[in-house]
Amino acid sequence: MEAPTEFPSVTFSDLATSCSAAPAAAVFSVDSKGQARLRFVQTGSAAPLAELDLETTQVFRVGPVDLLCVSEESGGNATDEKLCSKAFKVGFKTKDESKGFAAALEEWKNRRSSKDGASLENGLIVSSKSKFDSKIEATSAKMYFHYYGQLLHQQNMLQDFVRTGTYYAAVLENKLDFEGRVVVDVGAGSGILSLFAAQAGAKHVYAVEASEMAEYAQKLISGNPSLGQRITVIKGKVEEVELPEKADILISEPMGTLLVNERMLESYIIARDRFLTPSGKMFPTLGRIHMAPFSDEYLYVEVANKALFWQQQNFFGVDLTPLHGSAFQGYFSQPVVDAFDPRLLVSPPTFHTLDFTRMKEEDLYELDIPLNFTATVGTRVHGLACWFDVLFNGSTVQRWLTTAPGSPTTHWYQLRCVLQQPLYVMAGQQITGRLHLVAHSAQSYTIYLTLSTKMWGVGAEQGGVLQTSTGKLELKEPYYRLSQPQSYAASDQQQQTVQTQIMPPQDISQLPDEIDPSLSLEQL
Ligand code: SAH
Repeated sequence: MEAPTEFPSVTFSDLATSCSAAPAAAVFSVDSKGQARLRFVQTGSAAPLAELDLETTQVFRVGPVDLLCVSEESGGNATDEKLCSKAFKVGFKTKDESKGFAAALEEWKNRRSSKDGASLENGLIVSSKSKFDSKIEATSAKMYFHYYGQLLHQQNMLQDFVRTGTYYAAVLENKLDFEGRVVVDVGAGSGILSLFAAQAGAKHVYAVEASEMAEYAQKLISGNPSLGQRITVIKGKVEEVELPEKADILISEPMGTLLVNERMLESYIIARDRFLTPSGKMFPTLGRIHMAPFSDEYLYVEVANKALFWQQQNFFGVDLTPLHGSAFQGYFSQPVVDAFDPRLLVSPPTFHTLDFTRMKEEDLYELDIPLNFTATVGTRVHGLACWFDVLFNGSTVQRWLTTAPGSPTTHWYQLRCVLQQPLYVMAGQQITGRLHLVAHSAQSYTIYLTLSTKMWGVGAEQGGVLQTSTGKLELKEPYYRLSQPQSYAASDQQQQTVQTQIMPPQDISQLPDEIDPSLSLEQL
């Protein structure tokens, strides 16, 4: 199936009413039941002027540039007595355009539904094999949307006060960007961000959500009528649904572990290209992945010791040692997710920026980040620690949502890639390397990490490498270390606060005082 065919500037008049011809767009597409439809949409309006089932639609020429569309509509039940005809006059700018329309109608009449198309209720499917379907395995997508279809997981995100509070502040402090504007909420979940946008005075919000959560979002929005009357919930993928008008601003929470896990940023970029006006805003505007080498002997020993089980030579009479190497490797392929003390960092972090307003969707298929650090202490380096932040570049206030170590903990925590072979560094020594992330069809990434220590003292001028350590990790299979006792004392019981800031804090005084046992998708 192909993308919809659109005739953006026609005139439309319903012969049943005596209204004058209105400027409109005519759109051919396939609906969720696989039926070819023709919709006439008035510029700037949400509700279509008319929607015709192409199977019962015929077209007649009534002038050089004018066509008559006649469609039979059943009156609600299958009996023929209830059948009635509707007639619409459609005007075109040129003869060629009207001919093109008649040809498109015949072509779309012959389209058939795809059997594996999802049965979405009110999202128009543009094509059976959308950009999403062609790159994501169906089983992965099914599990993903099943997960987000459950209220308990939405609750987990809503209860992340740093996350939800920062979004609330970013929206309400930047009313200028929302007042009287058309907003699209990309992956609306419970609809919370749509409700925030409506609170900030949005003219209309389209809340697009692909999972069953769309039904709950509709309930929540209907239950808040003063805001809800300006929100339309649309069930479907942002890659596939159609909206009646362009958006002035997109709002979304597409971040996963390490920012990119779940590959939802790609959907956010696609939504930008499909729905946002050229001068439109994006909330969040950009994201940054921060990285620094760390030293954590406890963590290293803990990971390495997990494989000790396979060193038994007499496990019920069986020698398990042939599998020790594989098990050892397997444990090191799991990125560790927990909240750590930023004092474990061996050098100041660097970051890699993703500008959501400019980047291409394809830029997210592979991220290749060069690393260059200078150690501030002499120690053993056990791997690379990563976290992210996003910026809401509002017209009034610029606000950051950060997941940095030492900042109030979020449900994303931080992520550490542990290397099988630690590196020895001296204070002042350079650590170079590469973080290479390659996306895969299970909505995640394979991580290739290389860290090297540069020659120290004599020979440093030659720039030679002393020691190199590499690792291959699977972002989809993290080790959630949250129930483990922390190896360092948690500091004073600070209340989590939402901070107004231009730069995210790198403050070590705010360690988490407890770990939330409810896990996010990345934590399953
Ligand atoms: N905006 C909500 C939910 C964020 S979680 C909040 O901030 O609380 C991300 C949501 O996006 C999930 O509910 C998920 O089902 C939805 N989603 C992910 N990819 C999507 C896509 N391609 N199209 C539509 N919805 C999507």
